Amino acid sequence: MPDSSLPAALPKVTDRLSATTTNHSAFWQNANLYFDRVYQTMGLDTTWRTVLASPKRVLTVSCPIRMDDGHIKVFTGYRCQHNNALGPFKGGIRFDSAVNTDEVMALAMIQTWKNALVGLPYGGAKGGIVCEPKKLSLAEKERLTRRYTAELLPIIGPQQDIPAPDAGTDAQVMAWFLDTYSMMVGYQALGVVTGKPVAIGGSVGREEATGRGVMNILRKFLATQNKTLADVRVAVQGFGNVGFHAARLLAERGATIVAVSERAGGIYDEGGIDVDAAGRYYRENGTLTDFPGTDALTNEELLTCDCDVLVPAAMENTLTAEVAPHVRARVVVEGANGPTTPDADEILRDNGVTVLPDILANAGGVTVSYFEWVQGLESFFWDGKRVQDELQKVMEKSFDAVNAKADEADCDYRTAAYTIAIGRVTEACRLKGLFP
Ligand code: NAD
Repeated sequence: MPDSSLPAALPKVTDRLSATTTNHSAFWQNANLYFDRVYQTMGLDTTWRTVLASPKRVLTVSCPIRMDDGHIKVFTGYRCQHNNALGPFKGGIRFDSAVNTDEVMALAMIQTWKNALVGLPYGGAKGGIVCEPKKLSLAEKERLTRRYTAELLPIIGPQQDIPAPDAGTDAQVMAWFLDTYSMMVGYQALGVVTGKPVAIGGSVGREEATGRGVMNILRKFLATQNKTLADVRVAVQGFGNVGFHAARLLAERGATIVAVSERAGGIYDEGGIDVDAAGRYYRENGTLTDFPGTDALTNEELLTCDCDVLVPAAMENTLTAEVAPHVRARVVVEGANGPTTPDADEILRDNGVTVLPDILANAGGVTVSYFEWVQGLESFFWDGKRVQDELQKVMEKSFDAVNAKADEADCDYRTAAYTIAIGRVTEACRLKGLFP
């Protein structure tokens, strides 16, 4: 059954929600600021500025589910579709207690620029459910995922909007998402979601892809400084999908991982942390605290610890103006989305710290998601080497473009990356024109 047969009427949808509405959170304001300050310098037609600053659609859904003890609990979920000038919407789904409308709007906008920057035929979206995933049983998480998927049905589909994992979600959640959507439309729609288990149409290499992209980008940047990964000591904030795989792959290529952390705190070892062993310890104990042979440190201490490279790979707004003056790393690689606030960004720039921005540095995940989508549509699956090689090509090409733009415009990497991405999306909007 084609997607067009799905219901057209959308419940609780706010089309073209005004981006200028007041009382928005700092994260949404920051996302706008990063966009706006570059847009204004690009000499572009101002017509598109408000369109690009406004999410096309924000859907809020209520997901009542029966908890294991028999009572019914209602969870709130969101999906924001920011812009689809370049192709179907694409972006992750987050399960976290702090999810809110502004957060998904900011993340969806960042996703639009990211997809455009690395040349994917996608627009940007993001979704999430307000919940504490670690406090849900597997069965409760499954019921919640299925209900949320069913609620999103009118606006998702392989050619409409293709979700993927983000913080608090994983391949199992994507499997439930796929199955629910497929049951409701009456056929196996592999292309409706990416980050699925390999056994049911996922791509090899997707799970580690964001971390691998972080490694590719840092390696490329260091080459411009005549350095290699073996020359740097790295601190990684956040030890989930992005942080763990980034730390692991950086260590594999010779970097010394001096610090890693999770929500409750972190560990430091000047001589280098055994990342695989720390990963096993974290999985078994749910914390890094007391990992043998290391010193404890807080998340704030991690951000300012003695290292060459800092990889914030936890959540947004962790690198603030209060912390930025004390950052000792010379390079920040944004594994997370929006970890650096604009005022912190300015302080880092003034202090000569190079920031490799999120829309470049963590684009490896969505890039392999794109590979997975293509493989699913063609029913032809690649081996791991091909995935890694194609990912490296995309990441390195994107880095080269950003590096060249930064040289040409004599600007920082974030400004260069935004200039390229905004230029591409604006051009697509201009060529398509306005409907009706
Ligand atoms: P995850 O849930 O797998 O892991 C998050 C980690 O960060 C956990 O170790 C958690 O304990 C820690 N954490 C949470 N809040 C923290 C805080 N305030 N301080 C320190 N640590 C904290 O999530 P993830 O998938 O690794 O995503 C992390 C970030 O990367 C998010 O910003 C996400 O949007 C972004 N991102 C994820 C992907 C992906 O493919 N998963 C792709 C691109 C960007």
